[in-house]
Amino acid sequence: MASLLGNLFILAAPSGAGKSSLIKALLEKHDGEDAYPMQVSVSHTTRKPRPGEEDGVHYHFISREQFESLIEQGVFFEWAEVFGNYYGTSRVTIEQTLHQGIDVFLDIDWQGARQVKKLLPDTCGIFILPPSTAVLKERLTRRGQDSEEVIANRMREAISEMLHYDEFDYVLINDDFSTALAELEAIVCSGRLRTCKQNMRHSALLEDLLNT
Ligand code: 5GP
Repeated sequence: MASLLGNLFILAAPSGAGKSSLIKALLEKHDGEDAYPMQVSVSHTTRKPRPGEEDGVHYHFISREQFESLIEQGVFFEWAEVFGNYYGTSRVTIEQTLHQGIDVFLDIDWQGARQVKKLLPDTCGIFILPPSTAVLKERLTRRGQDSEEVIANRMREAISEMLHYDEFDYVLINDDFSTALAELEAIVCSGRLRTCKQNMRHSALLEDLLNT
């Protein structure tokens, strides 16, 4: 994948860290900005939709057979099995979006992040952590609805994701939401200003400045 004008960002986190809310707030705040359009990639998954989730909006919901066939066809840029379900990112969609100069945010797990980093080492990886175990546990508990066992399992899954925090370029602690959002914006801004990206974005300016 040569000369990709858009920037690719990975956002990973355990469930309960507030990742979805941060991505949503970031996109809403910067919606309609012409200089740096941005999108969240819509993954394919074999997980069943949760209440309120729409096919094509939150995920492309497909069967395990369909997913395995797409793997064989080489459709995925990255894919992984996460807690018993397949999840994957479409290669063509990512390539086309980045070529159009649109920044893409991948909401994926550590396994997918590793694959993306290998393919595109310039990708900016961000890991979001909750501020404490107590807060994480509270966020993973739907009051009165879950057994201790279900909550303990969610905690185990969260820990298995958090064990990989140090494979990412940035670590963000989501304690105060507006602070975390400001920090995420700062990371995104610095990612865009990297020399390798500015070289492409401002090639005409640089050509002009250096050849007069
Ligand atoms: P959930 O089922 O709660 O929406 O997502 C479970 C986990 O799967 C989350 O950590 C999420 O980031 C991850 N995930 C979602 N889409 C993808 C994907 O396309 N690829 C990979 N590797 N992980 C994904």
